[in-house]
Amino acid sequence: MSALDTAWNFPHSVHTGSVPLLIDGTWSTSASGQTTPTYDPGTGDVIAQVTTAGPREAELAVAAARRAFDDQRWTRLSSAARGAILWRAAELMREQADELAAWESRNMGIPVPQARAMVDEAANQFQYYAGWTDKIHGHTVDVGPAERRVQGYTLREPVGVVAMIVPWNAPLISASKKLAPALAAGCTCVLKPAEETPLTALWLGQILHRAGVPDGVVNVITGPGDTVGATLAEHPDVDVVAFTGSTEVGRSIVHAATGNLKKLQLELGGKSPVIVMGDADLTRAIPGVAGAVFWNTGQVCAAGTRLFVHESVYDEVVAGVAAHGRRLRVGYGTEADVDLGPLISGKQLNRVSDYVASGQAQGARLVTGGRRIGTDGYFFEPTVLADVDQSMRVMREEIFGPVLGVMPFSTVDEAVELANDSSFGLAASVWTADGSVGHAVARRIRAGRVGINVHRAGGVYLPAGGYRQSGWGRENGERALDSYLEVKSVVSTLA
Ligand code: NAD
Repeated sequence: MSALDTAWNFPHSVHTGSVPLLIDGTWSTSASGQTTPTYDPGTGDVIAQVTTAGPREAELAVAAARRAFDDQRWTRLSSAARGAILWRAAELMREQADELAAWESRNMGIPVPQARAMVDEAANQFQYYAGWTDKIHGHTVDVGPAERRVQGYTLREPVGVVAMIVPWNAPLISASKKLAPALAAGCTCVLKPAEETPLTALWLGQILHRAGVPDGVVNVITGPGDTVGATLAEHPDVDVVAFTGSTEVGRSIVHAATGNLKKLQLELGGKSPVIVMGDADLTRAIPGVAGAVFWNTGQVCAAGTRLFVHESVYDEVVAGVAAHGRRLRVGYGTEADVDLGPLISGKQLNRVSDYVASGQAQGARLVTGGRRIGTDGYFFEPTVLADVDQSMRVMREEIFGPVLGVMPFSTVDEAVELANDSSFGLAASVWTADGSVGHAVARRIRAGRVGINVHRAGGVYLPAGGYRQSGWGRENGERALDSYLEVKSVVSTLA
């Protein structure tokens, strides 16, 4: 049994006192003694008090990760042993999946069955990268003419200490997408979850220790972005920052990282286009389009928030998506048959309301939604704004709520031009009965992922990431390992 078990135990201890930090394999408090309340966005109630780390705790966590990297306590294990530990972590997550899902739902509002699917997706990350630990290797290369032949080979080595900074909209998945490949690569980690959703990240730290990750290899600290996050981003002993969050904060991380020229992996915002052609099967396209924007109450980086519909089916699609939105059941995460939960916070509720008002003020037609639901928690109606144009803020800026902007197009070229008219480039989808049109459009769209008759699919197996201001690097698949590995060439002359 891990030494961690004696002092604190997720989820049972959450009600017994303030939730600690996880530094160097030990549950820790902060020097300031401060705690921060964590809320249930479905009620606005406080569900836990969580230790507030400051720059000092960030220093301690980085020092622990640095020692763990430098003394090789993780990489000196065989690659098979490390793989077995990651696999065991996935098993432990699945054993605790119901409890993890219940807390994820309570802390971020998502309906419990969907939170359960998120736990599965997070566990998939550890299983997938468990299979990579013993497959990370280089190449041999022979160069030069016979009389001066040089044999070269490449090694792939872990970069070092990775600071991981993640948002609140899919806390376990965001953390797992970084921890699993970084650990498979042999790095050590300091994870900072979002202020709003710290609980399952700390719990995941506990699970990794129970699975056998040595002390100091994974540290989890909770605290404000502008102090703890910023300390990590500029810390000279951090070699990589792996960040998921807004483009604005991503930009500040780029600046902070210049001191020691850290490597950066950035998964940033999106404003993803969805194109419905005139020949699309609308019985599939309409629910697909609605799911692309409304799932997780629109709090999805890849949400399809800009809809371009061929003029021949425009009215039918607008009416169909609006009707679908009205049918969605918005409610508390544990209620039966709920499709959508609340927004994460009062701040986010105000932000979404302001965007809808700005769209209307700029001339958009409100087809459905647009209002807060009730007064407890932060529930908001699925919203469709039609007859928008590309100059409106609702079509240019990320709202991160259940708000869709729709406009018509007449030619494929126009649709592609509209889709690409964005500073983002995270995801897209095209809906058509003509496969060749779908593939041709997919090639022309400037985005890291394009769906044809589907908006979101691929899971851990397919790389995900952004063109343009949606990010640098890729998560998922073999590509994710690149952010955490250096390439070394070794050369020798041959007799
Ligand atoms: P955010 O950028 O406000 O915060 C993300 C994280 O950064 C949090 O942990 C926060 O504490 C931290 N942070 C804030 N200021 C910081 C600073 N100065 N230095 C270092 N860290 C700092 O984002 P959010 O509101 O939590 O999440 C929503 C955003 O995340 C959206 O823009 C969304 O598109 C993006 N996102 C992107 C992806 C992707 O894969 N591309 C996935 C999920 C979410």
